[in-house]
Amino acid sequence: MHYKPSFYNIIFREGKTTFIFNTRLSSYLKINRPLEENFSWESVPKALKPHFIEGGFVIPVNLTELSLLQLQNRIACFDFTKLSLTIVPTMHCNMKCVYCFEKHRPENMTKSVSDSIISFVDAKVKKGVKAVDVTFFGGEPLMNYKLLCELSEKIQEVCRKNGSQCWFSLISNGTLLTKEKSEELKKLGFSDVQITMDGPQSIHDKRRPYLKGGGTFDKIIKNVEEALPFLSVSIRCNIDRFNVQNVKGLVDELAKRGINKQVSIGFAPVHEIGKRNNELITWINKPQLPATLDSVNFFRKPSMLYKENNDNIACSALPLIEPHWIPHEPKPPSCAFKMEPAPKPKEPKTPKEPKAPKEPRLPRGWD
Ligand code: SF4
Repeated sequence: MHYKPSFYNIIFREGKTTFIFNTRLSSYLKINRPLEENFSWESVPKALKPHFIEGGFVIPVNLTELSLLQLQNRIACFDFTKLSLTIVPTMHCNMKCVYCFEKHRPENMTKSVSDSIISFVDAKVKKGVKAVDVTFFGGEPLMNYKLLCELSEKIQEVCRKNGSQCWFSLISNGTLLTKEKSEELKKLGFSDVQITMDGPQSIHDKRRPYLKGGGTFDKIIKNVEEALPFLSVSIRCNIDRFNVQNVKGLVDELAKRGINKQVSIGFAPVHEIGKRNNELITWINKPQLPATLDSVNFFRKPSMLYKENNDNIACSALPLIEPHWIPHEPKPPSCAFKMEPAPKPKEPKTPKEPKAPKEPRLPRGWD
């Protein structure tokens, strides 16, 4: 079989060593020799070929990865044995992050809504759902801790009665996650919590202050340390053009406290939603680019070099920095996964002269 390089490879070089990270399978390979960005299957040493196939760094020539991902997505959509729920116990929050898109209303979920959720889960598990995955989100979900606990207990009870399994996770700002709560949440069946930190203290505190003012970094990091014996903690770092050059300091800070290998860290771009966060548009401005190149390397490294020391660093922020440097995989034919007959193949036309490639369109703010 013939193979081609995966579209989802990111190649990084450090001296004579090459690191390849495949973002589709999150696989990682370190090889002690140079490798070109657009390497060919033939150039891969024989001994390494099985690793290249296994890690998804090469794929069969006739496979379109985007189609494969779409197919996996469709299969997941029609899997009626699983139920994923995101529950918002409150819209209220005790913080005031600069990019927050929510209008915080001091409103909690009512008893009738929470009862309806239980009835909904009950009906689903009776119809054959075997796995229920619940994420609590907000506002700050821990601001309605009582209801969060009651709901989790009842969902667990309903699942147990019907022989189904359930998992709980929490997306929290971390300020209210005391040691006692982490312990209780573990007993309730919570396995992991995602907490956002936007950089080292000086940066985080400016971006994610308390609603009444004042920094949250110290409180959050203390709570993260105390939650670790009970819950698996993932740190999400939101990135936009205002903190892109400082986020490495967060990893250094976690390392200084000795917890960088106990947490997982994910970098993600801040997106513009509606018109509320216009001033925080994600893209890095052209004049900022030279100073940002260090960060570009940093973002490449978490996925590769840093992975050597911490398996739990992921980065989805590359498109933030290099939006038009990433080549786009050709779209699969639009009929690929539709429930309709494929159009009849057209007679092949006489090939035309290839057109000159278009200038890439610059994102807003680059001119
Ligand atoms: S913690 Fe979350 S909900 Fe609260 S202000 Fe920040 S982004 Fe918004």
